[in-house]
Amino acid sequence: MSYLRRTLAMDLGTASVLVYRKSKGIVVNEPAVVAMNLYTNKIVAIGKEAKEMLGKTPGFIVAKRPLKDGVIADFNATEKMIKYFMQKSIGKTLLKPNLIICVPSGINQVQRRAVIQASKLAGANKTFLIEEPLAAAYGCDIDVTSSKGSLVIDIGGGTTDVAVIAMGGMVVSKSIKTAGDECDAAISDYIKKKFNMVIGDTTAENLKVNIGNKETMNEDNLIEVKGRNLLTGLPMHIFITINDIMEAISRPINEIVETVHSVLEKTPPELAADLYDEGVYLTGGGALIKGLDEKLQNKIGIPVIIPNSPETMVVKG
Ligand code: ADP
Ligand code: MG
Repeated sequence: MSYLRRTLAMDLGTASVLVYRKSKGIVVNEPAVVAMNLYTNKIVAIGKEAKEMLGKTPGFIVAKRPLKDGVIADFNATEKMIKYFMQKSIGKTLLKPNLIICVPSGINQVQRRAVIQASKLAGANKTFLIEEPLAAAYGCDIDVTSSKGSLVIDIGGGTTDVAVIAMGGMVVSKSIKTAGDECDAAISDYIKKKFNMVIGDTTAENLKVNIGNKETMNEDNLIEVKGRNLLTGLPMHIFITINDIMEAISRPINEIVETVHSVLEKTPPELAADLYDEGVYLTGGGALIKGLDEKLQNKIGIPVIIPNSPETMVVKG
């Protein structure tokens, strides 16, 4: 019977959850958000639906991300979310599936056990953990077991993970808490300081995702942004340029670039030489931030490769 048991791979991210099913490919790709009713303590919505509620919910419904910086912040919500996405991936079945979950490389034993426990309570048969940078490397079709070194940079919502991989393991790695969310916050901050306007998290994220997107600009190449006036408290709108956004995110982007630089400095020379030939891989949703690859390439002088749909590399691996 065991051949009937399904195995699912889950990338349990801060920003999104992806599930990969053998022979079917990616069956779930949704925001890692859970909406809860505070009075009844019941979950109202999970995933896409819940994300749409973020920042718009009445007081007694809170939409939150169960994971923060790649580790479980709300155990109960994480368990429910795993359960929901697991069922969504396989439908009704008598056999509990095995679950392979990708976790950030920096997490400790207690945090690992929490993930396994949540997965078990959510109804998984067996749970296996795999370190994210390794999974990302497999996803990029890198021969992980080769003695040749490769560098993978995964930029998610909460964390950026940089790792040099060779012979099936990580030789040098570093994880920082500057990633996609930090860019959103930097955009909000910038607009608050320069225009005295407060914008929501979703607005900030949309600005980041749509940099350089023609549809979002008017004929003068300006982008309209709506928010609330910091002084009067009333709704207002302003027009900004691409340069405003690029300037706003330059600090977090520089931090990411510096981190890659520092990992390269710690890489043994033999492996560093391989990297020059092979290039470095940029994965995770943050890989799509406009201009990041170019900035990185200029700084480190090594070709930067962004695979098609970089946000799916971890779960594919
Ligand atoms: P996690 O592994 O933490 O769940 P993801 O790999 O899904 O994170 O990446 C999520 C981050 O990528 C978010 O900050 C999101 O705003 C950002 N992102 C997704 N698509 C784009 C895009 N096209 N341009 C810029 N940033 C993007
Ligand atoms: Mg991720």
